[in-house]
Amino acid sequence: MEIAIIAHDGKKAEMVQFLNHHSAILKQKNITLISTGTTGKKVSKAGLKVNALLSGPLGGDAQIAARVAEGQCDMVLFFRDPLDRHPHEPDILMLMRLCDVHNVPLATNPATAELLIKAI
Ligand code: PGA
Repeated sequence: MEIAIIAHDGKKAEMVQFLNHHSAILKQKNITLISTGTTGKKVSKAGLKVNALLSGPLGGDAQIAARVAEGQCDMVLFFRDPLDRHPHEPDILMLMRLCDVHNVPLATNPATAELLIKAI
């Protein structure tokens, strides 16, 4: 199972907290983590193995969207910051749209991510 981890800058601290709290589940052998670039550094710091792609504004969200479209990514945990502006908004919308097109579970806040993680 491949899980994508993404957090906007204003949400990275919350993501680290979330990852630390759920590291036992996320370290399971059948789970592979991918992430956008800067988020990936945080994921590594939380002691988890991760394949970090490009930073979000440079195309990381688009790379994850492509993996969703190709059926390679099974879940997306995306802590969005709704109070900030993002130059890569079109990529973010594309990622969310493709999750809906391909019926891939997508959490856009910690409360939903918590529920998805418990369902693994
Ligand atoms: P980042 O990208 O992990 O490289 O900060 C996240 C995003 O802004 O989508």
